[in-house]
Amino acid sequence: MADQLLLHVDGKDQPASDGGEFAVHNPATGEHLYTVANGTEEDVNGAVLAGRAAFDDGRWRAMPPRERARILNRAAVLLAERVDEYARLESLQIGRTLREMRAQLKRLPEWLEYFAAVAQTAEGSCPEFGPEHLNVVRRVPLGVVGLITPWNHPLLITMKKVSAALAAGNSLIIKPSELGPAVPGQLVALLEEAGVPPGVVNFVPGLGRSTGKALTEHPGLAKLDVTGGTETGRVIAAAAGRSLIPVTAELGGKAPVIVFDDVDIDTAVAGALFAAFIATGQTCVQGARILVSRNIYDRFQEVLVTRTRQLRLGDPMDLQTQVGPLVSQAQRDKTAAAVDRAREQGATVLAGGRIPEGAQYANGWFYEPTIVGDIRRDHDLWSEEVFGPVSVIAPFDGEDDAVMMANDSPFGLAASVWTQNVGRAVRVSRRLDIGIVWINDHHRIDPASPWGGFKDSGIGSENGLEAFRSYTRQQSLIINASDTPFDWFGTDEDLRYS
Ligand code: NAD
Repeated sequence: MADQLLLHVDGKDQPASDGGEFAVHNPATGEHLYTVANGTEEDVNGAVLAGRAAFDDGRWRAMPPRERARILNRAAVLLAERVDEYARLESLQIGRTLREMRAQLKRLPEWLEYFAAVAQTAEGSCPEFGPEHLNVVRRVPLGVVGLITPWNHPLLITMKKVSAALAAGNSLIIKPSELGPAVPGQLVALLEEAGVPPGVVNFVPGLGRSTGKALTEHPGLAKLDVTGGTETGRVIAAAAGRSLIPVTAELGGKAPVIVFDDVDIDTAVAGALFAAFIATGQTCVQGARILVSRNIYDRFQEVLVTRTRQLRLGDPMDLQTQVGPLVSQAQRDKTAAAVDRAREQGATVLAGGRIPEGAQYANGWFYEPTIVGDIRRDHDLWSEEVFGPVSVIAPFDGEDDAVMMANDSPFGLAASVWTQNVGRAVRVSRRLDIGIVWINDHHRIDPASPWGGFKDSGIGSENGLEAFRSYTRQQSLIINASDTPFDWFGTDEDLRYS
């Protein structure tokens, strides 16, 4: 890993215009990893101008789709070769276990391959326009788009946005999270190595409140695409509103895991653990509210608590570790405070609920995987996103109650329904005011499958054809195909406005 992560604008690495930088630390050990150039307003402006110049001269936008696709496929091959190196880097800077980072990164070439295929097969349309005209509707790229990403899946989320935006022919400015920008930075170099022309993908790391704000408010952007907290999403969407540009926002969540009484308890508990504690609970779709049919509640809770206590917390680089640290002190403080408040409000901590003791945890931001019971729907922990290894468990009585509890949230990102009854699974999922519903599974993602939340979880979606389309706009060509001469003011006959 280089000692300093620089900006990359118009094909060139550069420091911040004012020389500013900040440090990234290993959340498991506190060790200093590298410094990052903190992009200024001037840097953002330079990146947008570079992206605009690349867009205007058509070096990427006007390239035949098959050629663009070839380059994206080449990038997929390069990425597959670097998965181990990138997984290590991701684990070092965000603390997520190496076994999980490897599993995730191995799949990322699929995003480039999928959107390469979409670029080649995308078609316009030819709506009916009456006998004298032919209407051809083209899909054209937007221009320079701003991509703002979080730290919890640094490369996955960057990849989702980059592959759709590039396949559609746009120029990009990437503003990664200040907590984990190294691998997104490497991706930019990899894309140019694969053949994306300089100036098309620009990289401006920096702090959200300065670099992110400057990007969001830049008048030269044609779209903003953000993944982050709901409050960040509101600020960015408001700026997009002022610029009258579209916004895609993937925001917070508080996903319910709904367990009916016909399940195999061990299988459903394994599913709930997977939902709750992958990435140390730091995922937007974390199974934060485990809702269990009352007639199996006691048994389910007992097995869940036992298995939660058995999770191996520790060094993320050790392949035996199942749960790593939180990403930062702020994130651990927030997690601990949320559990303490739940205790004060009368909930019961059934497993975890502590900062672990021991030398191996002393310098990192660790918190034990935690299950909280006796939760009421007026407790803060019921509705607030913690973004840590904390889930609540509560009983329900029948389908109506399960649906009411699951929908009782400001968020509507994801849910899982666990049952062997297909009719019930379909019935319940149709009543959920939630964007992604897994049946007997959780967390699964595919480049072809839409990913987006309802309510306070966001606007629009990533993945799939809609994501590609959201990086284009329609241009309508209306061709006069009539041989009859036309003179609007030269006739006294009844006029026909078509
Ligand atoms: P965050 O909102 O703190 O930051 C996200 C990005 O926005 C970062 O790059 C940050 O620098 C930038 N930013 C912050 N303030 C900004 C501002 N005022 N203007 C412009 N940019 C700004 O989020 P985070 O802590 O990095 O990530 C965790 C959050 O992301 C959680 O709420 C989680 O649910 C959400 N998330 C959602 C999804 C999804 O698909 N819906 C996926 C992952 C994470």
